[in-house]
Formats: sequence, C-alpha cells, structure tokens
Amino acid sequence: MKIVCLVKQVPRADSIQFDQETKQLRREGVPLLLNPFDAAAVAHAAAHKDRTGAEVIAMTMGPPQATDALRTCLALGADRCIHLSDRAFAVADTLGTSRTLALAIQKEGDVDLVVCGRKSTDSETWQVPPETAALLGWPHVTNVVETELGGGRVRATRESDEGYETWELETPAVVSVAYGRETNDAVDGLIDVWTAGDLVGDLRENDKRFGQPGSPTRVLAVRDVTPQRGGERFTELTAAAGRIRALAKERALPASEWTKPERLGEQPSPKRYDCWTFVELANGMPTRLSLELIGKGRELAGKLGGDNVALVVGHEVDDAVRELGRHGAERVLVADDDSFSHYHPEVWSATVRAIVETHRPHVLLFPSTTNGRDLGPRVAGELGLGMTGDCVGLGIDRGGRLIQTKPAYGGNIVSVIMGATTPQLATVRARMFEPLAARAMEPKVERLDVPELPQPRARLVGQKGTPSWDLDAANVVVCLGSELPPEDIPRARALAEEEGAAVGGTRTVCERGDLPRNRQLGLLGRPVAPPLLLTIGVPGDFEELTGFVKAGVIAAVNHGEAAMLAAADVSAIIHWENAVPALAGAL
Ligand SMILES: Cc1cc2nc3c(=O)[nH]c(=O)nc-3n(C[C@H](O)[C@H](O)[C@H](O)COP(=O)(O)OP(=O)(O)OC[C@H]3O[C@@H](n4cnc5c(N)ncnc54)[C@H](O)[C@@H]3O)c2cc1C
Repeated sequence: MKIVCLVKQVPRADSIQFDQETKQLRREGVPLLLNPFDAAAVAHAAAHKDRTGAEVIAMTMGPPQATDALRTCLALGADRCIHLSDRAFAVADTLGTSRTLALAIQKEGDVDLVVCGRKSTDSETWQVPPETAALLGWPHVTNVVETELGGGRVRATRESDEGYETWELETPAVVSVAYGRETNDAVDGLIDVWTAGDLVGDLRENDKRFGQPGSPTRVLAVRDVTPQRGGERFTELTAAAGRIRALAKERALPASEWTKPERLGEQPSPKRYDCWTFVELANGMPTRLSLELIGKGRELAGKLGGDNVALVVGHEVDDAVRELGRHGAERVLVADDDSFSHYHPEVWSATVRAIVETHRPHVLLFPSTTNGRDLGPRVAGELGLGMTGDCVGLGIDRGGRLIQTKPAYGGNIVSVIMGATTPQLATVRARMFEPLAARAMEPKVERLDVPELPQPRARLVGQKGTPSWDLDAANVVVCLGSELPPEDIPRARALAEEEGAAVGGTRTVCERGDLPRNRQLGLLGRPVAPPLLLTIGVPGDFEELTGFVKAGVIAAVNHGEAAMLAAADVSAIIHWENAVPALAGAL
C-alpha cells in the first residue's frame, strides 16, 4: 500500500506583518513551518504503517526552502519525500497547484490513498484536496478525524456541520484531515526533486498546465484590516452590557436591500449575467448563511443586469423554495431526487457540474461550510474553473467581474482576488451580509432534469453527533477557554444557551473533550463572526484570536492579566457565573 501526503510550508501566522508604506507583506525573517494540518496528515498516515505495511511519501510543490518542511515530514514518519520544485510552478493558484500535484501523483503511480490537511494556515482556501481529487477522478472525503484501511477500501469518519459521518470509499481516494498539530522536529532522508519536465514529456514555454499561466485566479492586492478594539475595562455588569449594546448598534452590518441597483457598465447582450447561490438546507430549510448569500446576490445580480438565482439540490424542498422567494431569490432552480436527501460529494458535484455546464451562470456562490468547501472546489476542479475560498467581501466591477476579498494569514490581512474563468466561483463565510427582511414574494420555480448520476465509489455508512450550524447562525457566540475549570464548563454552557447563544471552545477545551471537536474555534478550528462574541476564561493567544477577527463586538471575561482583555472591545473582571447571563443576554 502506498500513501502520499500532500504538504505545504507556511509562514508562522503570528509573524506576518504588513508594511503600511509599501502596502505589502514583510516576508523577510518570517519563520516557516510545516502547515499544522499537514503535520497531522503525515502523522495520521504514518500511524497506518505498522498494521498495513504502507509506504508513506510526503510531497510538496514549493520553493527550495520547502525542503525543511519535508525534513519535518521525515521526522513524523514519512519514508521518503518528493519535492516539486521548478520556476514554472511559481505563483500557482489552487487549480494550478492541484493540477501539478495530480500529475505528480500519477507519475509516482500505484498510489492507494492521498492524505492532505483540510486547509493551509496562510491562504486558507480549503480547495486543494477536492480539486486534486477531481483532477485525478478519485472519490474524496474532507475533514476526516479517523481512517481505517484495508481490502481496497478506506473507512473515514468526517467532522461536518451536521455532526460526524462515516464514509466507506473505494481506493484510490483522497482525504483531508480535520485537526492540526505543530512540530519543528526534522531529520534527513531521501528527498527526490521533480521539475515540470519530469511531469510532462511535452513542456512548452509558459505552459498553461503550471504556475501562473495555468492559474485562473489572481491576487490583486493585500490589505491590513486589523480592527481597532478599545480594551475598555468594566467592573460593573450593567455598564458593560450597555457598552456592548452601543457598539453592536454602531457596527451592525448594513441591511441588504430589496431594490436591485442599476446595471454597471456595458456587458454584451443577449447573454445572461445571473448571480447564483448554491443553497444549503438544514432540517429542510435554507440555512441562515444561504439566505445571507441570497440577500447579497440581489445586489450583485442588479449590478450584473441579471437575475438573483437560488440553486437547490435536495428532496421534497417546496418549503425551502418558498422561503428563498420570501428572502429575495427571483428564480429558484430545483434538482429534486431521493438520492439527494443527504450530501454526497461525487453525486452532488456531478449534478451541479451538469447544471452549470447547461445554464452557464455568471457567478456561483457556495456557503463556506464543511459541505460548501467540499462541493465548490470539487466542481471547480471538474470544470477547470478558478475559485476564491472563504470570501468576506464581494463586489462587481464595471466589466461585470466578481471582485472578491478573502482573509489570509490569520484574518487581519485580506487579499483582493479576481478570477479569469466563468462562472466565477467563490465560497463565502457566514455573517458577512444580512439576509433580506422577508416579504410575501413568490419566486419563479424551474424544476431541472436530474442528470445521469455516477455510480458512487463512496458510501455513507453512519452518522452521529450533533450539528454545529448554530455557530454560524446565532447573534451571540460564547467561547469557553482553558482558564475556566473543566468542571464549570457544563454550567457555563447551559447559562449561555439559556440566553440563546451558540457555544464553542478553544482548542484546549475541545481537545480535552469538554466540548465536541466540531465546536472548536480559532485558526485550527472554526472562524466565527457573530454580532457579539463573548469569551469566558480565554487566554487570548494568537491562534484563538484568529477565530474572532471578524466578530462585531468582542467581550471578554477573565482575570486582569489575560491578554484577551486587551484584544476585546469590552472586558469584565467579574465572576463568569454572573457575567454570562448579563453579557450574553446584552443584545
Ligand atoms: C493571500 C493569498 C490568497 C490566495 N487566495 C487564493 C484563492 O482564493 N484561490 C486560489 O485558487 N488560489 C489562491 N491563492 C493561491 C494559493 O494559496 C496557492 O495555490 C496554494 O499553493 C494552495 O492553496 P492553499 O494554501 O489555500 O491550500 P488549501 O487548499 O487551503 O490547503 C489544503 C491542503 O492542500 C495541500 N496543499 C496545498 N498547497 C500545497 C502545495 N503547494 N504542495 C502540496 N500540497 C499542498 C496540503 O495538504 C494542504 O493542507 C492565494 C494565495 C495567497 C498568497
């Protein structure tokens, strides 16, 4: 058995600085490390060596110094490494990267399993694993917490917004791991270097398979958007709650408008310039995030001179269709089949791909959820389209192009990105836009023919655990931290939930098992951006703060020495048992 681990070297996220004069990132002297999710991926693969006799190969595409990351992989148990190193690979986007990696995996040959991290901690697109699987034509499962190998199959348990799912896949297959770990250990060993010429026999100058020529997306600019937080301290709860209310009002997101703006610039007619949103359902109804995108879609569609269209893949979705109309969708396209009752990467990507190929929307947005980040890039890879991951801002320029901003390097830096392929694809984070206030509107509904579906090579065999959608939907998220004694966690959680808050935890709390792992917030967990984020006993490390960057108001309850107090807008040195009801209930 042969396992290839895809790994990337990344700058240490807390060392990145923005030069206000040059408007560029300062890269000199920034320490580099193996992406924590990739360290976990290699350790995960190496753990299978004893039982299966698997050979583990670490593979990276990167500059010469990426050898250091490969030496860390050797220390983690990789048997040998492949370094894809060539100037032709430079400035690749995720599609260019995935194409290069897929060619190298094919050249290596007889690979049974590819193990990736779920995201890199620098550009955080989450796109390479599904895109690589699409380009190889292999099944995939993302966000995996456990795998069993044997008999030409992988059994993989996946963490999702719905809980935990167990999948059985035929090999060869691609998986990405959900958790990260940091390590700096390194040892020497066999590292082969492959160039572009080693991957293809007919390499040309500016070959469109590699590097920038093979990459449809461009980073146009980077900006520092570090929010100013006052660190105001309160010793009295009524005053703290009042300040939270005032700040939340000041910082509320602008309401989305039912009135569509004028079409921008000149786009040739009669081609349609519609803005589509892929709608995700929870309990048969559109998620809040899907309604947020439908609200924003109305503005984008207006500027494009097209319709605001919702795409629903599901079964028995009439109530959801009505709800989408009430929140601003002008047309709802429905692919209804009983095989769509549960998300399935191969089946859904084949369906969405066929619909997109037939209807050619101008823009297609996916929610940045575990399933949206899985489906969107798979579709992008299958269609060879550029995609921007985890957008926090969207606009249209006069040429009808989608201008996308996305966070990078932990969230305080955003990059502005544009794609050169149509449809323009993006995943979009929760709580960046407001849904439209509901109106009694009926959308135009089009029932689509369900395309011929592939014979799936992956099968869902089990589901357990509880959903974590509430972390995207709640107006208040309470994050419980390591400075709260473990025995107090259940009580603090219950008090917060009584106030209607969604509850997450820091890495320490979730790793300890005091909260489910799909509730972990932060750089190695989930980013959240509610109008109010209340931390209880959170120390305020960089990794933790990264998860809260886009929150409206941050309030912190802790002892006076905690770094978290300075990073918050409002802080209270008050016992948590009194603070949780007063502050979580402040809005
Ligand atoms: C600020 C910034 C923003 C960017 N935004 C986008 C964007 O929105 N869309 C886009 O297409 N490109 C984007 N890029 C380019 C993108 O970062 C590169 O293509 C990168 O090599 C792969 O993307 P990622 O780091 O986001 O990977 P992710 O998909 O987040 O990484 C997931 C996993 O894929 C594997 N992997 C990723 N890169 C490599 C590699 N080089 N070698 C081996 N395995 C790898 C690892 O297992 C990793 O854990 C951006 C670049 C920058 C600097």
